[in-house]
This record gives sequence, structure tokens and C-alpha cells, in this order.
Amino acid sequence: MIDLRSDTVTVPTEGMRAAMARAEVGDDVYGEDPTTRELEEKAAALMGMEAALFVPSGTMGNQIAIACHTRPGQEVIVEATSHIYNVEMATMARFSGVQPRVIWGERGVFSAEQLAAALRPDLYYLAPTGLVCLENTHNAAGGRIWPLSAAREILEVAHSRGIPVHLDGARILNAQVATGIPARELVRGFDSVMFCLSKGLGCPVGSLLCGSREFISEARRVRKAMGGGMRQTGILAAAGLYALEHHIDRLAEDHENARLLAEGLSQIPGLAVWPPETNIVVFEIVEGPSAQELCARLKANGVLASPAAAGTDPRKIRMVTHLGISREDISRTVDLVARELRGQSM
Ligand SMILES: *Cc1c(COP(=O)(O)O)cnc(C)c1O
Repeated sequence: MIDLRSDTVTVPTEGMRAAMARAEVGDDVYGEDPTTRELEEKAAALMGMEAALFVPSGTMGNQIAIACHTRPGQEVIVEATSHIYNVEMATMARFSGVQPRVIWGERGVFSAEQLAAALRPDLYYLAPTGLVCLENTHNAAGGRIWPLSAAREILEVAHSRGIPVHLDGARILNAQVATGIPARELVRGFDSVMFCLSKGLGCPVGSLLCGSREFISEARRVRKAMGGGMRQTGILAAAGLYALEHHIDRLAEDHENARLLAEGLSQIPGLAVWPPETNIVVFEIVEGPSAQELCARLKANGVLASPAAAGTDPRKIRMVTHLGISREDISRTVDLVARELRGQSM
């Protein structure tokens, strides 16, 4: 199977498994796991932040950040197609007692002006804005990179009102590799950032939440409260350390494969392809079967892809490149899609 559903399907490489087997471990709830400590220090340095916390998933990292930055009764500003708003259930309401307020961006990205207009005036009967969340790269927008200057303008508007800004940076390292701008520059000024080890970096489990020392010590308490205090996490942290050393620069291959995939697909009549900026290709079937139907036909021929936006858009398909996908897989996929769509029009 050529599995293009997500970069979460990556499995540990030989080298990563060897590093996991060798990991020195201890009880992390007692703060005694040396490998986890090392990973947290490396992650904090990578993001240019004071401290970091290893968490089981990106969702938990985002939700801990929301819990730490807000008080019940506040609003959290999110982009309408963001991961936090769309595919983390209503967790901010469930665990933090806050409600989302959405801004529709232009393919996932909103402006400082839009943010300024969405901030509530200081009237006692309005819910105060407690937090702003951005997403870089933006998953549903096809791995789009949030332009740095636009992000900085947003930080300025939010901070001028005393409102913190969290970055859902699940794939921030893809943005680093694609732009050549170090992640610590891309996240400078954010009050916290979460990034995933379990996506393109190829680890089996784990994400890191980064921020100030004070923020992370509160985050550690919230993680425990959510049931995320784990014991000999060094086994998992070793995979993370291995990935930070060996799997960042190679993301460029995934981006190149995404570019080739998009180029190939855009030659096929009936498809409109969003030009990819990183490792996610989204395309629309302008003429032909529904996304679900095409995905089913591809699956029958050994290629897995997902209807985009968690299936809410019946005409869009998402394909994600990662370390389990070769250049040959890309050409086979393009050929197969072309064949299936030709079959349709005959
Ligand atoms: C995958 C993802 C997450 C959540 O990560 P999980 O580990 O799957 O919980 C958060 N934000 C974005 C943008 C993602 O793509």
C-alpha cells in the first residue's frame, strides 16, 4: 500500500528503534527520566523557549496550552478551518470552560485587521478574549505556511491588548525546512508552541509543548490532571531525540515529493490542485467522481488517500507525503489517478 492519508502513518525506522531500545529511563512523574529531560531541553532550545514538556499527543499539547492561558468564561480566537476548532472535538469547552470565536482566513490565514475587529470591547456582559491561536503549517489549508510578517502583526495586536498567542505548530519544522527560517525565528514572540514528533518526524508517539519556565510548570500540572503523566517515557523520548537529529532536514524530500505529486496531478483534466508549500497536497475534483468514491477506487488499487477536511468537503482529497513515500510511489499514484479519471469520462 502507498499510504498518503497522513504523515502520522510513519513507523519508526531501524535507527530509531535501536535508539529506543538503548534509552536510559526512569519514572518521569518523579522527574527522573533522563532521556525525557534531554528531549525537553533540546526541544526548548530548538524553539528558542525557556522550557518544554513532553506530551502524548498534539491535541493534549494544544488543550493544555488553552487551559493554562485562559480562565473559564473567556473566548479563544481560532481560524475557522483550524485543527483546534475542527478536529479536537469541543475540548476547549469541556476542559477549559471557554468558547471558540472563529475568524475565516484566506486559505487558513487571517490578518491582524481581522483579529483587531474580532477582539471584544471591554464591556462586562461580553466574553473577554483570553487567547489567540494560530496554526503553522496550516493542515486543512494544504500545509500552508503562515507568512512571518502577518504572524508578527497579529502578535503585536494581541499583545497590545494583553492577550497571549499560542501556536499550533504541529508541523512547524516543515515550515522551517521549506522557508529556511529557523523554527525559533518563526515562533519568536508566541507565548507557547506545540509541535508534533509523531507526524513527518516519524516518531511513534509524542509532541512537545514549549513556553516560559512558569508556563511549563503549570502545564505539567494540567498534563497530570488530564491523565497525561507517564512513567518511563524515555523509550518514547529517545525516538524524539533521534528524530530531531536525523529527520528534520530530510523533510525537504517530502516537500519535493509533494511538489512532484501536485505537478503530476495538475496535468490531469478535471482536477484543480492547490500548489503545495510543504508536504500536504489538496486537490479538488472539478469533474469526476466524489472524493469518497475516488478514494475507494484508489484504495482498491493500493493507494490510500483521505477526503480533505475530515470528509466535510465531498470534492476535495488530501494526500500527505512522508518518509514512507518514495518518488516512485508518487509516479505510481499520479498514473493511477489519471487512469481512474479517464475511466470516469469514457
Ligand atoms: C495532528 C495535528 C494536531 C494534533 O496532533 P495529535 O497528536 O493527532 O493529537 C494538532 N494540530 C495540527 C495542525 C495537526 O495536524
